[in-house]
Amino acid sequence: MKGTLYVVATPIGNLGDITLRAIEVLKRVDLIACEDTRHTKILLSHYGIKKTLTSYFEHNKQKKAEYILELLKKGKNIALVSDAGTPGISDPGYRVIRDVIDNEIEVISIPGANAAIAALAVSGMPTDRFMFEGFLPNKTTARKKKLLELADIKKTIICYESPHRILASLQDIKDVLGSAELAIAREITKKFEEIKRGSAEELLSYFKQHKVRGEFVIIINPKKAVIRK
Ligand code: SAM
Repeated sequence: MKGTLYVVATPIGNLGDITLRAIEVLKRVDLIACEDTRHTKILLSHYGIKKTLTSYFEHNKQKKAEYILELLKKGKNIALVSDAGTPGISDPGYRVIRDVIDNEIEVISIPGANAAIAALAVSGMPTDRFMFEGFLPNKTTARKKKLLELADIKKTIICYESPHRILASLQDIKDVLGSAELAIAREITKKFEEIKRGSAEELLSYFKQHKVRGEFVIIINPKKAVIRK
């Protein structure tokens, strides 16, 4: 009999944000596939879980997917976790999950933390319809082009952003979407958690005056945007 792949959400900062079921599954499986073994070991040791780990990341994901598949075919049960949040959402879990599905092996979701949904829920932006955009393009020209496309969508947009690009992205949002309403959630569930709401201009000015550190989610309500083409 084939094994099962459990797609297990882990905390996005605060180690308390994990479900009882996730802990039970992590204890029960034969192997845990993770991005960075050092990172996952911190979580496991917090919960007293001793388990064999194997790492998958952007550059070995094809090879590692084959390895995971072989074990599942032999009847092993495997948990897939990422460094933070829900595997497959803007991290390399997708390839493994797809390959497992294509081989008609059972995939079970163990839901939990996700930065996009956590940020959206406290953003104060409309939540009835929204679009997850993941990371915006790295370069200004491509980013502005993408923002112009997004402006037409008229739904709340959720983007992930790194500390290195947050100022440049805010500048482009200001240039392209003018007065769009924004919320920026930084370091959700962590010590320096904050949520700032305002226009791109206001948020740009705020983050220029403070050290830009940590992880960011940008929520954009393009409805009030005055688009500048
Ligand atoms: N799989 C993860 C999830 O379910 O949210 C996302 C992984 S993606 C590689 C990492 C990005 O998620 C970060 O660059 C940041 O934009 C966002 N993120 C993750 N943790 C966060 C946190 N605690 N606060 C704010 N943003 C966070």
